[in-house]
Amino acid sequence: MKVGILKEIKSEENRVAMTPSGVEVMRANGHEVMVEKSAGVGSNFPDEAYVAAGAKIIDKPAEIYKNCEMVMHVKEPQPSEYDMVREGQIVFTYFHFAPDEPLTKAFIKNKSIAIAYETVEGAAGDLPLLTPMSEVAGRMSIQEAAKYLERFYGGRGLIMGGVTGVAPANVVVIGGGVVGTNAALMACGLGAKVSLLDMNLDRLRHLSEVMPKNCFPMMSTPTLLRELVLDADVVIGAVLVAGAKAPKLVTREMLKSMKDGAVIVDVAIDQGGCFETSKATTHKDPVYEIDGVIHYCVANMPGAVPMTSTMALTNATLPYAVQIANKGWKQAALDNHGVKTGINMVKGAVTFKGVADAFDLEY
Ligand code: NAD
Repeated sequence: MKVGILKEIKSEENRVAMTPSGVEVMRANGHEVMVEKSAGVGSNFPDEAYVAAGAKIIDKPAEIYKNCEMVMHVKEPQPSEYDMVREGQIVFTYFHFAPDEPLTKAFIKNKSIAIAYETVEGAAGDLPLLTPMSEVAGRMSIQEAAKYLERFYGGRGLIMGGVTGVAPANVVVIGGGVVGTNAALMACGLGAKVSLLDMNLDRLRHLSEVMPKNCFPMMSTPTLLRELVLDADVVIGAVLVAGAKAPKLVTREMLKSMKDGAVIVDVAIDQGGCFETSKATTHKDPVYEIDGVIHYCVANMPGAVPMTSTMALTNATLPYAVQIANKGWKQAALDNHGVKTGINMVKGAVTFKGVADAFDLEY
C-alpha cells in the first residue's frame, strides 16, 4: 500500500503522525511511504531522517492525497484539505467528529474511510491511542506546577520536595486514572506529599498497592476535598466522567480558602475543567490568577513537548497502521477489534454511534 504522512497545519501543532523508525517498519512490511516536506521538523525529525528510513519526500499535500491509499495525520484534516480526500481513501488520525459539524459533513461528502484514533478500543475497553497523551499531560502537569510554584512566576516560592529539615509541598491530585496516576508518580518522584483522590474503590485498592509511600490514595468526597485544598500547594484536576463534561469539584468558595501563590493545573480543561474558575488557556499565555491562586489550563498540553508526544503517539498507532496497510481496512477490522471500533465513517455512511447521535444522523 502507499501510505502518506501529512504535515500538521493546525495552529500550535508540532507533532507528526509517524517517526522515521515507523517508516522503517512500514517499509519492512513492503509499503511505500510518502512524507510531506518538513512534516517532522517540529518534532526534531528532519526530512533526511525520513529519506534514510526509506520514505519519499513530497512537496505538496495534494500530491499525497492523490497518490496514497492511506493518509495519516495527528489532528483532524483542516478545511483546506477536505476536497483533497478521495472516495475510498483511508484517513487515520484524531478526528473528534462529534463537536465538529463541518468536519463531519465534509467526511460524509468525500466518502473516505475515516478511522479515528480516539475511538480505537483496547481489549479491556480502554482507549490505547488516547492513553499516551494522558501520560504526557499527567507527567507534564507536575513540571508546570513546579515551575509556577517558583516566586518569580507568582508562586509560593516552594521547591516540590523540600530539603533536609523543610517539609515538601502538598500536592492534591483529583482523579486516579491515567493522567492522575502519572501526575502523582512525578510529584512523588520529586519528593512531594501526594493525596490522590478517586471515586472507584477497585481503582483505589490497586493504587494503594502500587503507588510509592509518599502517595496517599483516598476516596474522593466533597468533605475531604474541601479539607485538602485548604492546605494544598498544588492541585491537579484529572477527572473524567465518560461521555460527560467534567464535574466542577473545586468551587469558587473553596478556591478562596486556598493559600496565596498555590498552583492549580486543570488537565481536564478539554472536558470543561473541574475547577469552577477554570477557562482554557494556550501555550503562548498559559496562566492567569484568581484569588491569589495561579491557574494553568492549557487544553493541548502534549503540544508543548512534541518530540516526546510524537514518539509516544506513534508507538501506539503504528501497530494498527501496519495492520491496516497489510490487510486493507476491511480485513484488519475483522481481525482487530481496535481497528473496527476506530472506524467512524465508511464511504459516506456514519458507522460510529456517538457521531451519528451528535448530529441526529442515520447510523
Ligand atoms: P481516566 O478515565 O483514565 O481517569 C479519570 C479518573 O477520574 C477515573 O479513575 C475516575 O474514576 C475518576 N473520577 C471520576 N469522577 C471523579 C471524582 N468526582 N473524583 C475523583 N475522581 C473521579 O482519564 P484520563 O486519561 O486520566 O483523563 C483525565 C482528563 O484529562 C480527561 O478529561 C482528558 O480528556 C484530559 N486530558 C487532557 C489533556 C490536556 O492536554 N489538557 C491531555 C490528555 C488528557
